[in-house]
Amino acid sequence: MIVDAHTHLGDKEGWKVEDLIASMDETGIDMSLVISEKRYAPIKKILEQVEKYPKRLKAIGDINFETLDIDQINYILKLLEEDKIIGVKFYLGYENYYPSNEKLFAIYEYCQANNKPVVFHTGALETGDRGLLKYSHPLNIDEVAHHFPKLKIVMAHMGNPWLLDCAAVMSKNENVYADMSGYFEENEPIEYEEVAAFIQRLKAAWLFLGSYEKFIFGTDYPLYSQKEYLEAVLALDLNPKEKELVLWKNAAKIFNLDLT
Ligand SMILES: [Zn+2]
Repeated sequence: MIVDAHTHLGDKEGWKVEDLIASMDETGIDMSLVISEKRYAPIKKILEQVEKYPKRLKAIGDINFETLDIDQINYILKLLEEDKIIGVKFYLGYENYYPSNEKLFAIYEYCQANNKPVVFHTGALETGDRGLLKYSHPLNIDEVAHHFPKLKIVMAHMGNPWLLDCAAVMSKNENVYADMSGYFEENEPIEYEEVAAFIQRLKAAWLFLGSYEKFIFGTDYPLYSQKEYLEAVLALDLNPKEKELVLWKNAAKIFNLDLT
């Protein structure tokens, strides 16, 4: 069983839902979680696509921080309530806000009380982006986890390049995990040298945490080939228990997935 916990869709060539399903079939991925992005793939569009493949795809909705008001919060909570989205993504650095901003607390409170996960972008921003890195540092997640200890949290991209800071936040907070997506150079084949460096850097996190049990397989498809990404993750020396947790069990638990 394999779940890709971090993918996107859009209008561009190769970004269509049929392309994703074909990629999953080729790679042997059973389910992908598709995250909306307000600029190129807003929630409504994602839902239309995901609903075509209810057994294979689930949607994660994002917020627009700039226009966040009670109506938008209620809309998100309604989608969660109706199981149309299975979690909420926050882009932080891309929109210049800290995860501890009190405007977000109503969403965190709902998610904590109703066992719904939240996903935060952590780590680097795209070259030339107008956002600020200070908002996307993984250490910021500690404060949310501290105030909402039962809230299930996923740090997207393992906070790369701050992998050890990400590991420290996971080590301290029981319900905080990291997805392994978006690590390599985007829109390029994953090279052998990159995988060797990936193994090396993950090893440092492993030494700190003592296992890979808190990581979740995710790619950031279509910026990467799911097949190549899976091969890179399998090149890590995961023991059988870690492999199950990373490839699907953590995702199933956190996102409440029915994989039968
Ligand atoms: Zn992404």
